[in-house]
Amino acid sequence: MSATPPNVFSGPYVDRRSEARKNATEVAAALADPAALLVPVWGQRSLVRALPEPTAVLLSVQHTLRTYLDDAALIYLGEFRGRATFAADLHEQALEAHTVRHGPTLEEAAEFTDLRGIGGQLPADEAGLLAYARALIYWRSKHRFCGVCGQPALPKDAGHVMACSDAACGHQNFPRIDPAIIVLIMNGERALLGRQATWPKGLYSTLAGFVEPGESLEDAVVREMYEEAGVRVTDIRYHSSQPWPFPSSLMLGFTAQATSDDIACNDAELEHARWFTREEIRAGVIGLPPPTSVSRRLIEHWLAADAPPSATR
Ligand SMILES: [Zn+2]
Repeated sequence: MSATPPNVFSGPYVDRRSEARKNATEVAAALADPAALLVPVWGQRSLVRALPEPTAVLLSVQHTLRTYLDDAALIYLGEFRGRATFAADLHEQALEAHTVRHGPTLEEAAEFTDLRGIGGQLPADEAGLLAYARALIYWRSKHRFCGVCGQPALPKDAGHVMACSDAACGHQNFPRIDPAIIVLIMNGERALLGRQATWPKGLYSTLAGFVEPGESLEDAVVREMYEEAGVRVTDIRYHSSQPWPFPSSLMLGFTAQATSDDIACNDAELEHARWFTREEIRAGVIGLPPPTSVSRRLIEHWLAADAPPSATR
């Protein structure tokens, strides 16, 4: 099973051209192309324009900001809408120097915004591009030093590797993602949803957790559902996945069948969980996670399962 259309932040919108990353001549040519684009990321925030419609603000590689960014601040993302595209890691000195010379505005009405809030309102290809850029810049910010010998690490392969600056060590770090399973548990005509104490009042969602080393995805589903809710599950089926770069997750959505009724929120992660019928959810007795999330997608998928065939997806 897979989601149609793709989940927010996913979809084959960027031609990643991974074969070009190791080719310094090709990357330099892409950077020299006046049509090339920069995707600025500043403090984990993405540059967007909210009005009239939310859109990503991509800067020309000839933008005045480029003067204040050396090549090491850029990561080659590939081609977006047929144009060479680079993530740009903006640091305070670059922004301040740019502001002194050119004023505080990078582009008219553009603001650095948390992608998590606005991602679902952007065109799908732009949301995917911004998620990709944000994830890489975050990863690099956490791998500035070699984990083996402690020397500074420097970008390599157009920014997709952080390599130890000590040639004798030579340790290389590659982009990391943290797999997390997220599961809609079904039990007859009901589904299990839970909530954490810190969430907005009345909001319930599917249960989720990180995959641990030495586990298969199925192992993680079984373990997490029992740890969080005391429910045993079987018939685990993959639904769809979603990059979730807040900061570095890959959400893997599943459905599963409960083999027990009793709920016990043992590990203190959930404040409350219970079985809901489709009628209760359709009647709005609880708040649901945002439409951008794979959790919501799983819930909608389940809600549609008892609708006439024309309404299913
Ligand atoms: Zn090292």
